[in-house]
Parts: sequence; structure tokens; C-alpha cells
Amino acid sequence: MRIKETRSKFLRVRCDDCENEQIVFDHATTTVRCNVCGRTLAEPSGGKARIKTRIIEVLG
Ligand SMILES: [Zn+2]
Repeated sequence: MRIKETRSKFLRVRCDDCENEQIVFDHATTTVRCNVCGRTLAEPSGGKARIKTRIIEVLG
């Protein structure tokens, strides 16, 4: 049985509200907020973060 791909990634996201760009871990276990305006960018969701804003780049 093949083990499911679980490699974690970092995502470059842009805040929908203030256009700030920052890096989010895609397996974040805590809520990630924008460093500038405090908007929620990602929420933990069973191991993989749920991204709540626009992903502009996936970093290996
Ligand atoms: Zn923001």
C-alpha cells in the first residue's frame, strides 16, 4: 500500500485586504494572521492548513 504524499510545503500568499505578502506553512497548526492588518490567512484543518486568502506561489 502506497503511503500518501505528505510532504509539507510553504506557500507565498497575499492578503486580500492589504496586499501584504507573506509565507505560510501549509501544515500550520495554529491560525496564521496577516502581519500587517491581522486578517486570518490560514486556519489549521486536520493536519493541513486551510488557506483563506490568495496563494501566489508554492515553494517546494
Ligand atoms: Zn493584511
